[in-house]
Amino acid sequence: MSEDIPFNKALDLASDTVDEPIPGVRRVMANNPGPFTFKGTISYIIGRGKVAIVDPGPDDPAHIGALLDAVRGETVTHIFVTHTHRDHSPAVPAVKAHTGATVYAEGPHRASRPLHIGEHNPLDASGDRDFRPDVMLKDGEVVSGDGWTIEAVTTPGHTANHMAFAWKEKNVMFAGDHVMGWATTIVAPPDGAMSDYMASLQKLTTREESVYFPGHGPAIPDAQRFVSYYILHRKAREASILHRLGKGETDIPSIVRAIYIGLDPRLTGAAGLSTLAHLEDLVTRGAVATDGQPSIDGVYRLAG
Ligand SMILES: [Zn+2]
Repeated sequence: MSEDIPFNKALDLASDTVDEPIPGVRRVMANNPGPFTFKGTISYIIGRGKVAIVDPGPDDPAHIGALLDAVRGETVTHIFVTHTHRDHSPAVPAVKAHTGATVYAEGPHRASRPLHIGEHNPLDASGDRDFRPDVMLKDGEVVSGDGWTIEAVTTPGHTANHMAFAWKEKNVMFAGDHVMGWATTIVAPPDGAMSDYMASLQKLTTREESVYFPGHGPAIPDAQRFVSYYILHRKAREASILHRLGKGETDIPSIVRAIYIGLDPRLTGAAGLSTLAHLEDLVTRGAVATDGQPSIDGVYRLAG
C-alpha cells in the first residue's frame, strides 16, 4: 500500500535558487511543478571548482540561467543525464553550449518494447527524442572528475535508458526518477516496463549507498530501507490487481477505480498505464490471460 511507504514531501527549496544539502552536492530546482514533477525537476551540481551537472532539466531559460549562475566562475567538465523525459534532458544543448562539458548517458530515448500493431505511444510528447549523449555509458562504468568518482548504474523501468549515478567518495546516489521520496515512480508502457523496473529495484538492494538524491523531491535518507518499501508496494499493487481479476473485474478502468482510492484525477491516465505495466508483466509470467497483446483497452482474466 502506498500509504506504507515513508514518503517525505518536505522540500524547503525555492525554484531556481541554489542550496547545498550535503557538502559537495548543490541543487537547483526548475519552476515546473505538477502532478508528475512534484515541486519541480532538480538539477544537481557535483563538486566545487571543476564540477559535473546531473540532469540540466527542462528547456526553460530561467532554469538554465539559474543553473549557469550557480556555477559562475567554475568549470563544468561533465553533464550526466539520468533519462530522457522532457523535464530532465532538453536543457542539455544550452548548458553544453555555454560550458563545453561532455555529455554522458546510457543512450538516446527509446521505448522498452516495440509498439504493437495499431498501438500509439501515449507518452510520445514526454520523450526528448533529440537527445544524443557524447559518451554512452554501460552499467558499472566509472567516470572520474576533480574530486569525485561517478559509477553508472543502469536502472531501466521508468524508461529503457534510465541510469542512476553513484558518487563513490560520498556513498550517495543520484537516483533520477527511479526512486523518489515524495511518490512512487510512473512505470508506463511502452516507455517503461514493470519487469525491468522491479529488477532495477532489486539491484539497488545489493548496493551500499546510504542517501539518494532524486530528480524530484527531497533527499532520501536510509535509502536501502526506502527501496525495500518501494518493492513491497509494487508487490502489494500486483496482488490487488490479481484480487480484482479474481473478483470478476476485467478491464483496466474498473481495476483502477477499485484499487486507486482517492487518486488525483490528473493521474488517472498514469494509473491506467501503471496497471497495464503490471498486467503486461503478469501475462508474460503466465498468471493472467488476455486476447492478443496486453493493451490499455484489453480484457483480462486470471490464467489457468
Ligand atoms: Zn521521468
